[in-house]
Amino acid sequence: MNNTYDVIVVGARVAGSPTAMLLARIGYRVLLLERARFPRDTLSTLLIHQPGGALLKRWGVLPEVVATGCPPIDRVSYTVADVRLEGCSWAVDGVRTAFAPRRYLLDPVLVQAAVDSGAEFRDESTVLDLVFDGDRVTGVRVRTGGTEYTVRAPLVVGADGMRSTVAARVGAPFETEEPKLTCAFYTYWSDLPQRFRLHEAPGSWVGTIPTNGGATLVGAYFPQHRFGQLRGHGLEALLSAVEHTAPELREEMVGGRMLERLHGTGDQRNFFRRAAGPGWVLVGDAGHHKDSITARGITDAFRQVQLLVDCIGDGVHEPQRLSDALSRFAALRHDMLVTDYRNTLATAALAAGKHQIELLRAIGSSAELTDRYFSAMSGACPADEFVTPELLDLMASS
Ligand SMILES: Cc1cc2nc3c(=O)[nH]c(=O)nc-3n(C[C@H](O)[C@H](O)[C@H](O)COP(=O)(O)OP(=O)(O)OC[C@H]3O[C@@H](n4cnc5c(N)ncnc54)[C@H](O)[C@@H]3O)c2cc1C
Repeated sequence: MNNTYDVIVVGARVAGSPTAMLLARIGYRVLLLERARFPRDTLSTLLIHQPGGALLKRWGVLPEVVATGCPPIDRVSYTVADVRLEGCSWAVDGVRTAFAPRRYLLDPVLVQAAVDSGAEFRDESTVLDLVFDGDRVTGVRVRTGGTEYTVRAPLVVGADGMRSTVAARVGAPFETEEPKLTCAFYTYWSDLPQRFRLHEAPGSWVGTIPTNGGATLVGAYFPQHRFGQLRGHGLEALLSAVEHTAPELREEMVGGRMLERLHGTGDQRNFFRRAAGPGWVLVGDAGHHKDSITARGITDAFRQVQLLVDCIGDGVHEPQRLSDALSRFAALRHDMLVTDYRNTLATAALAAGKHQIELLRAIGSSAELTDRYFSAMSGACPADEFVTPELLDLMASS
């Protein structure tokens, strides 16, 4: 085995595989390491918003994702109290729909795209530690099967998720960290209308997302402080939340059946970690994690990947250029994600108040504003361009 590469990427899901793919396309020798044996599902619902789809299209992998059979999602409804919005996000670069492929289908498509682009992929390969030269990361210590070995590269990318080993080993500090806000439970159901629907009531949030094989994901979010009480009773909690928050959905579920065991988590952290240092960089959940209620993790991982690769360009072998590129990535990553991070924390508080409901009522009176609202949710409309003179007039007259 030749154990010297240009870049080592740790973690081969929505952050790691596209990073490996794009860097390999530049011409780098890239090693993509993954602890799990692929294909393997992961704890996550599935929604890829329009900006994420647009990046898949730009990278040339959208046709493979569509070929998994996940239905295109071109409408969304959001019901809170007596207000119901129905519309669709704006298109991004010609991608009009969202997609929700099962992760055991999506993630292997991305790995294959990385391999087809020239990256070397090793699954069942756990990064145990990093190798340093002074304070500079120069490689990783890996175990594949029963064999431990060292691999070296001028850049190690930690795409290894919220509990990142790379972040832990370099001691990447938290730049921002907020308390956990929600817990979530979800499963897959048969024979439901294949529609993307969101329902909110004080203290709970219920959603359906159509996915592969005619199945529909049914999920519910609750305040974090209820996790201790709900864990072990997640299915009852989910069904009860549906009953109270979306009674018509509960009736529809009677005609179908649960297709898979319940999944759930109370560990949804909210943070930015330092993004980079000498010889290392974090991308995806490893560097920035937020509550999944706004379903932005996959799309934002793709956006981070594109930003990182644009910053690095062909500068990996020039230490000063690489250092400047990683600093630029760190600054731009923060600017790109911080507003949506704040909005996610606000949504995850699960406390739609009177003022917010009146705002939604005003938005719902205009199809244009409704689509703008869903575009802000998807990321197609920058959050700071969401408020328009028309909306201010409507609010003033209500
Ligand atoms: C309940 C829930 C629902 C969600 N719903 C959505 C949604 O609808 N839409 C959306 O966009 N996002 C959603 N998310 C968020 C989304 O799943 C994540 O943001 C996204 O999967 C992060 O991808 P990643 O590649 O950064 O990390 P991960 O998916 O965590 O992948 C990291 C990979 O690194 C590997 N790894 C870890 N340590 C090592 C090591 N030491 N050596 C080798 N490999 C290692 C792991 O095995 C793993 O495969 C949801 C999350 C949760 C928890």
